[in-house]
Amino acid sequence: MSLTCPGRAGAAIIRTHNHRTSSSQLKNSGPQTPKAPQIIPRAAHTVSRKEITSGALKVLYRLHKSGYQAFLVGGCVRDALLDLHPKDFDVATDATPEEVRALFDNCRLIGRRFRLAHIRFGREVIEVATFRAAAIHAADDVEHDHEGRIIRDNVYGKIEEDVWRRDFTCNALYYNIADFSIWDYVNGVRDIERRRLVLIGDADNRLREDPVRMLRAVRFAAKLNFTIDESLAAAIDNDVELLANVPAARLFDEFLKMFETGFAEKTFDKLREYRLFAQLFPATDEELNKDPAFLRFVRAALDNTDRRVAAGKSVTPMFLIGVFLWAPTERLAALRRTEERMSESQSLSLAAYELAAQQQRRISIPRRFTVPMREMLALQPRFMHTRGKRAMNLLAHRRFRAAYDFMLLRSKVGQFDADVAEFWTKVQKQTAEQRVASFEIRASAKGKRRRRRSRRGKPAQTS
Ligand code: ATP
Ligand code: MG
Repeated sequence: MSLTCPGRAGAAIIRTHNHRTSSSQLKNSGPQTPKAPQIIPRAAHTVSRKEITSGALKVLYRLHKSGYQAFLVGGCVRDALLDLHPKDFDVATDATPEEVRALFDNCRLIGRRFRLAHIRFGREVIEVATFRAAAIHAADDVEHDHEGRIIRDNVYGKIEEDVWRRDFTCNALYYNIADFSIWDYVNGVRDIERRRLVLIGDADNRLREDPVRMLRAVRFAAKLNFTIDESLAAAIDNDVELLANVPAARLFDEFLKMFETGFAEKTFDKLREYRLFAQLFPATDEELNKDPAFLRFVRAALDNTDRRVAAGKSVTPMFLIGVFLWAPTERLAALRRTEERMSESQSLSLAAYELAAQQQRRISIPRRFTVPMREMLALQPRFMHTRGKRAMNLLAHRRFRAAYDFMLLRSKVGQFDADVAEFWTKVQKQTAEQRVASFEIRASAKGKRRRRRSRRGKPAQTS
């Protein structure tokens, strides 16, 4: 990275916007007042327009030509500086959402808490946000709950106000389409070079305002390979319990970002290290502490998910949720079987239902994921049966693929017989005739068995 860094050899090429600013003036601790940015000219940074999608460029240019300020901001600037090829582009401007809408036919205003403009180009959506004032500068217009969490802060401001409401210094860099320079109010470039995750302002206050920042900290540290700054680490340690105040629906979105974007295993390790995982998945955490085999299973699943994402394969949240709830589900299922006579499958389905309901209090998981998740867990005992038509029918079950992948992971960590797992891998590649042989299905036996069963008046037992 050929970034120019304040206070180092390259400082001479950093111009300041209105007047020169020393790096001590920019130190980001305590309440902030607007200051001049360090402006890093195009020649002194690596963000190239080649890295920016045509949709994002169109939005930036049109805003600029219409007399508004237009910047890329947030993760896209950060990732471009780190050579990570950004995919999402967020634009910040001094145009109000209505002014933005007037410029673009393909624009929709969304959000009640924050009014944002979404501009669509085919499958790409560019999010355009009007600069907003930070809580500290607009105390009268910002609503907090009793823990200090911000619940409404829709107050427009200037860029030098907008910067202080952003979370980490690396996320608060603005790329100006007017001259392709980067505006840095918070020493974000320096922190990117040092690979440090630094929360803007007083860490404890900022985590109180929005406890999800703790999860974001861990996620970015994992994805970017950054060290979490000491003051932030200490504040997280203090504030772990505040996550309980965050609406469960918001945590589902965060769950997806943490576990389905390619850095699940590292994020998981850090969540555990900072005691945040127990806040999100209490029942899972309890089992992880008791059972090293379960920990191996979870890590194998996370590693597998990361590999799938890296290979561009699809991932579904129901799989990892099933993985996380597996050991608690097995334990509860065993208990339910001592209380009432039922098959292993039925008990797993029942236990998974109860655990998913408990889990909803922390992270609200849509039904379209909990229902297949239960099916996937309840199918596990059926893999033990490799003879007969019913065993073969498992191949045609709509949840077979997920349940099979789940079973393979169990076998990988010694929880399921490797030869039987191999059998299921093999039969999938076979023709119909070969399968009949593999499952040892005899046409005549089938008829006889059915007659005998019906005479006893008992339906076939499901496992
Ligand atoms: P990624 O897209 O890789 O998850 P990102 O940094 O772009 O990372 P977004 O959630 O897309 O994250 O948010 C865009 C920007 O909005 C962030 O970079 C940050 O400046 C700001 N932001 C997002 N969430 C918060 C938050 N909870 N508190 C403060 N600022 C935030
Ligand atoms: Mg983003």
